[in-house]
Amino acid sequence: MLITHDTECALDVLVELLNTSPKAGGHEGLPDLAALRGFVVRREMSDVGQLTQGDLDAVRRLRQRFWDVLDASSTREAAELLNAMIARAGTTPRLTDHDGHDWHVHYFAPGAALADRLAAEAGIALSLVIVAGERDRLRHCEAPDCVRVFVDLSRNRSRRYCDSRTCGNRLHVAAYRARQRTAPPAEAERGVGVGS
Ligand SMILES: [Zn+2]
Ligand SMILES: [Zn+2]
Repeated sequence: MLITHDTECALDVLVELLNTSPKAGGHEGLPDLAALRGFVVRREMSDVGQLTQGDLDAVRRLRQRFWDVLDASSTREAAELLNAMIARAGTTPRLTDHDGHDWHVHYFAPGAALADRLAAEAGIALSLVIVAGERDRLRHCEAPDCVRVFVDLSRNRSRRYCDSRTCGNRLHVAAYRARQRTAPPAEAERGVGVGS
């Protein structure tokens, strides 16, 4: 898949944003401004000014719109939602090599509000994924009791679970079994068992 590192980073931010929703975790992952500030710091977003309650409300609304894109019944519907979201946010693509990173394109307009910035960056990243014909890379965890979201960047689309503690563990077990299947028989027999 033709996906660059900064697109990958934007998708990671989107996944974290989606998973803060009560729809994913049962509780509000962005309950207050401190939580929003923590999100911004964790994702190393530079030059984010003072955050207000208005920013928090806007980010939560945006989060819902991204859920709608994720759960859209067709690529056309997803595209229309994305186009509207990106148009509303406005974009100003520009090359940058800030903070020692390699040259990459920022899509958000300088000084944009946090929600607009997220809409532009994650919206464009998701658009590029759709262009690559890979919309299903962003999907729900397959664990029966989990509706969290993850992005599958594995070569053979083999990922099934999100990286929450419980589901991530299943992921390790699945990866272990996959390795055993491809290992030579003698080595597979020697392998220690993994409880499921
Ligand atoms: Zn950057
Ligand atoms: Zn999960």
